[in-house]
Amino acid sequence: MTNLSSLIRNVPDFPKPGIQFKDITTLIQDARGFHQAIDQMVAVYAGEKINCLVGVEARGFIFASAMAWQMGVGMALVRKPGKLPAATLSESFSLEYGQDALEIHSDALAANSKVVIVDDLLATGGTMLAAVRLVERLQAKVVGCSFLIELDRLGGRQVLQGYRVESLLHYFDSE
Ligand code: AMP
Repeated sequence: MTNLSSLIRNVPDFPKPGIQFKDITTLIQDARGFHQAIDQMVAVYAGEKINCLVGVEARGFIFASAMAWQMGVGMALVRKPGKLPAATLSESFSLEYGQDALEIHSDALAANSKVVIVDDLLATGGTMLAAVRLVERLQAKVVGCSFLIELDRLGGRQVLQGYRVESLLHYFDSE
């Protein structure tokens, strides 16, 4: 087994002073590490009926698409404003380092479908909560929110209270 934590690179003061950026590019460059991360993220939902995965732009796409491939289900995209070409729904939210909005195609998910939403990292939870709202506005059911990394002290898990939150790696924000 690869120690996945050892494959995450810490980049201090990116994208602005005081932020300790968790860089997953060093993990996905490692074939065994990447494969193991996907296997473990998928294993969490073994035995669950999942109809679709939702990936959050941009790093969430990397993990969601590999998981969807392995689970044999399709994938929907949650993207930054103006990127999706057809009719969309939009939700704004606050980020650890700024303010943003996310969109989903209005026809991306079937009503009552069971979905897992995937991103690389959970910080304050604003991004995932916006994605959850988009999924629920399409009448789909959020079975879980899946992350490679969770920054425990930033409280994202509390923001997502009531939803199943699964993260492979946990850090304090200063690590
Ligand atoms: P939040 O909405 O605060 O939970 O922020 C989560 C989103 O911002 C995810 O899409 C992450 O990719 C990104 N993000 C926030 N903080 C960090 C960090 N310290 N290192 C890497 N990515 C981060």
